[in-house]
Amino acid sequence: MAEMIGARDLVVELGAERGLLRHRAGVRAVDGVSLSIQAGETFGVVGESGCGKTTLARTLLGLQRESSGEIRLENAVVSGTAPSLARRQRAAVQYVHQDPGAALDPWWRVGATLAEGLRIQGLTNRAEAAARIAETLRAVGLDPAFGERYPHELSGGQQRRIGLARILLLRPKLVILDEPTAGLDLSVQAAVLRLLRDLRDRFGLTYLFISHDLSVVKRVCDRVAVMYLGQIVEQAPAAELFAQPRHPYTRALLGAAPRLDGQPVAPTLRGDPPSLSAIPAGCRFHPRCLHADMSCLEREPVMQPVAAGHGVSCHHWRDAA
Ligand code: SF4
Repeated sequence: MAEMIGARDLVVELGAERGLLRHRAGVRAVDGVSLSIQAGETFGVVGESGCGKTTLARTLLGLQRESSGEIRLENAVVSGTAPSLARRQRAAVQYVHQDPGAALDPWWRVGATLAEGLRIQGLTNRAEAAARIAETLRAVGLDPAFGERYPHELSGGQQRRIGLARILLLRPKLVILDEPTAGLDLSVQAAVLRLLRDLRDRFGLTYLFISHDLSVVKRVCDRVAVMYLGQIVEQAPAAELFAQPRHPYTRALLGAAPRLDGQPVAPTLRGDPPSLSAIPAGCRFHPRCLHADMSCLEREPVMQPVAAGHGVSCHHWRDAA
């Protein structure tokens, strides 16, 4: 498989000011992230709120400038480079908002919103635009008559489908899905996941899948990265990560996931993550880790290979396993 998008030592500092008169350090929302997403795969990113998932997504999308490090798109470096490459990045990488209803203009019919996206792309022929919109609405499982509706006339599942139609019209290669099933009933959730899989296969898409819902990630992702306070602490094929999580944080996250049988789960994750402006020394997970010792306070762990395609950033992953 060829790489669709990759990052090397990516750092994104938010709120930094650097000038002659004023200098203020920012917080590192993304801190040294390296990953490589292959064409056609679904790559999951999981972690608690504030772990840097969204900032990472925005940076890969070209909406947030990296502070250092490199981003590659189909083997061309697109970070910190010429505007033409940034435009290429914006066209090839699209984002489906977790609340697609909020991204629709309440005063516009759905068809008009979709046509506007095509117009911005330079397609001004009305008949051609109408044909493409009808074809795309069918591709997401909606009758073309949905183009006549207003956003408030759509259910949550239908809004998700319109959100997908909107970006499909732009012919992306990589789609960033931010909590694509949040707030949906289980049956609607299953239909949306089936649709995502079908669209991926039919249009040759690659997905970056951001979710809190580990059961969904387990079902749909080929590989998964676990983020904690701006860093990837474990990365592995999904089946292996869920069967044999190695990092204490991953194990705690999986242990904290709600059980399908409704039984209470044992609390395995202590307290809330620290603020990004006060990252603990050594291993940043140590204040919450049941396995921490002095070496964890003194030395920051680095990513080490555990098995093929499986890496973990922990001094004691063998003992914790
Ligand atoms: Fe826990 Fe130490 Fe591993 Fe960090 S390095 S996750 S504190 S055992």
